[in-house]
Order: sequence, then C-alpha cells, then structure tokens
Amino acid sequence: MPGHSLFTWTSQREARPVRLAGGKGAWFHDEEGTRYLDFGSVVFNANAGHNHPAILDAMRRQLDELAVAGPWMTTRVREDASRALAASAPAGLTRFLFTLGGADANEHAVKMACQATGRRKVVCRTGSYHGATWGALSFSDDPRTRPFHPALPGVVRVEEPACHRCPWSTSPDRCDRPCAAHVEEAIEREGPGQVAAVLMETLAGINGGYFPPADYYARLRRICDRHGILLILDEVLTGFGRTGAWFALDHYGARPDMVTLGKGITSGHAPLGAVAVGERVARHFEDHELMTGLTATAHPVSLAAALGNLQAMRQDDLVGRSRRLGARLLESLRELALRRPIVADVRGAGLFACLELSRPAAAQVKAAAWQRRLSLPARGRLVFVAPPLVIEDQDLTAGIGLLDAALGSV
Ligand code: PLP
Repeated sequence: MPGHSLFTWTSQREARPVRLAGGKGAWFHDEEGTRYLDFGSVVFNANAGHNHPAILDAMRRQLDELAVAGPWMTTRVREDASRALAASAPAGLTRFLFTLGGADANEHAVKMACQATGRRKVVCRTGSYHGATWGALSFSDDPRTRPFHPALPGVVRVEEPACHRCPWSTSPDRCDRPCAAHVEEAIEREGPGQVAAVLMETLAGINGGYFPPADYYARLRRICDRHGILLILDEVLTGFGRTGAWFALDHYGARPDMVTLGKGITSGHAPLGAVAVGERVARHFEDHELMTGLTATAHPVSLAAALGNLQAMRQDDLVGRSRRLGARLLESLRELALRRPIVADVRGAGLFACLELSRPAAAQVKAAAWQRRLSLPARGRLVFVAPPLVIEDQDLTAGIGLLDAALGSV
C-alpha cells in the first residue's frame, strides 16, 4: 500500500501510482530515475511544463514575504495577480473571484448567476465535465458523474453541438444550426424566467475535443440576451494557451458574461481557479452581498504561482508555441491515422488533440504507451495528446512515434 492516502478514480487495489520524484519541461521522472514524456501535461494543467523556474521563483519569493492571508484580506500579490489576469483575460472580463480549482469555480459562477438573475435553473450539455464536487457533477454529464445523478435539481440538459457526429445528422456547411435553436427551445420549455445561466465548456475537453460551429456562441449570446440569461463558458481545461489561443473562446470571438478558469492558471504548481466576471455581473455585486467564499481562496502562494505562470507564458510565447506546434501535431496525427485503421477520427486545436478510436481500446493504448515511457491521457474510445506547451520540437516528434508504436501494438 503506497502510504495511507486514498487515490481517486480507481479502486485502491488497482491503484498503481507513479512515485514521482521530479520533472522539468515536458518530462517527469520517478524515484528510480525512469523518465516519462508527458503527453497529458499531468492532468491537462502543466501548460508551462513541470517545475518552471519563473513560477518556482515567484512562489519562493511569496513564501518569504507572506504565506497566510484570509479571503477577506487583500494582499499585494492578490492585487497584482488580478491586474495581470485582467490584461490576459477575454475582453470585458475584468474582475476575478479566486477559487480553489475548476469545480468550485463552476459552482461559484452558477451561484453568482442565480444571485444576479434571481433565477435557479442552469442549462448544461450532455457529454460535459465541469468537476467532481456535488454541484459541479450535477452540471456535468460524464461516465464519472452519472452514478450520482439525479444530483442537484434545476439542471436542464441540451445536446452537444458536435459537428463530427451531429445529433441532427446534418453538417455545418448546410445546416441552420439546430444545435443553437435547440438551446432556445429548452429555455422556452423550462420558462425563460426560471433560467439563470447557460454553462458550457467552450470546446468539449475530456468528452471528445469537438468543436461547435463557428457562429454557435454568437447565436447563444443572442438567445441569452433575449431571455436575460447569463452565458458562462468553462475554460478550465482549454484556457491559458492550450488550444493555440489564450482561451478557446478567442477562436469564436465569444462574449460570455463569466468564464471559469483553473488548471493552466498556475500550470499545476499550486491549487487555484477563478471566475472571470464581466460588467453586468460585477455591477450586480457592487450593491449586493456576494454570498460565496471558501477559507483558502485567494491564497497568496497560489496567486504568486499564477503571476509566475503568466510571466512564463509571455516570456516563452507559449500561446504562439501552442499554435505553431499544434498545427504540426494535427498534421502528423492525420498522417498517422491513415496508417492506423484503429484511429477513426482526429480533432484538435493547438496542443490539444484527440484521437477517436474505432473501438473502446484507449486503456490498452495508454498502457502500451506507458511501457514506452509515454504518459498519455485516454479513456473509452478517446486518446488525447496535450503535452506541456514548452515541449521541444524533437520531443513532440519522438512522442508521436511512441504513440504510433503503442497504437500498432493493440
Ligand atoms: N472543467 C473542466 C472543463 C475540466 O476539464 C475540469 C477537470 O478536469 C474541471 C472543470 C474541474 O476542475 P478541478 O478538477 O480543478 O476541480
């Protein structure tokens, strides 16, 4: 038994955790010194790579200055981090509620929407993941969250705008967007006066890396405006350069009222999430109590990590790097798919790519990759390639070779 801690998403008997001893850039190693190439950025979060010096320095300086602060206090690092985030955040989102991670960011965002609108329902997609806490799993529809359903009341489920397997059996070049019209129908059925928010991952992350049509979010914006509903986009996985833009919503020019952040906000160097808030919601809370908060939110060391992370992203041009390497990655994966019939589809943007297999063999591919010292996120039919954005060109090429061999072995 590896210590007395419990491991998540596995039975304890089957847990085989790697005994991590260190990491640098796109690599990590165990205590025996075996090195693994990280094609999953740990859990899609180490965007700036393992143990980035700029992030470590910022955290060390913060530890020397101040480590304990409460959510009701302000600190220099809290002010600096919120200013720095405002400079990188999607246009119009200039206020930040700091959270512990992605799941509670989604819960706080929905609570804020309920407070700001005086309504209680929230529209969410099928095939979505927003986190594992009780509220966040209620918004989600994922193999890991379904055993707990029905969870919170008031969640209205709409279809995924997944063009590669359109639920309306049409295609984006010839359809009039039944996926968007369907959201409005659901709102009208529920009673628009009841619906506080539409909460969606901008691009589906762990449920398939698919892309809604180009004008989907413009249509959702108009639908939400017609009914006084707030639009919340979950960028926990897709934010901070992952898809070759600062945020996936930049590919769409989307204008949400709130965006939830996590993972890449500190590149995994400390726990942190945030709700980025636009004018309309911020105005509401000027004169109303913001009825939410957790003891450890806005922790100074986490905020220092976020500041160091932003510095690392700018100094290493990680967004540009993700875009450039991502284009090469997609091309290589498409070539690979021609040789490997088990690969049914390849999708992606920036350094976030998804291989859909013709059968549920992802666990075998993952195991075969691990034997080759390649760490690969995979489940069901889906295999992901999401390395740290700092990955060296030759490591990306080598990793694709290992993935190819792993696919060939199953
Ligand atoms: N939202 C999305 C899109 C995610 O992928 C995840 C985690 O995988 C979460 C929210 C939850 O984030 P956390 O695990 O930090 O609570």
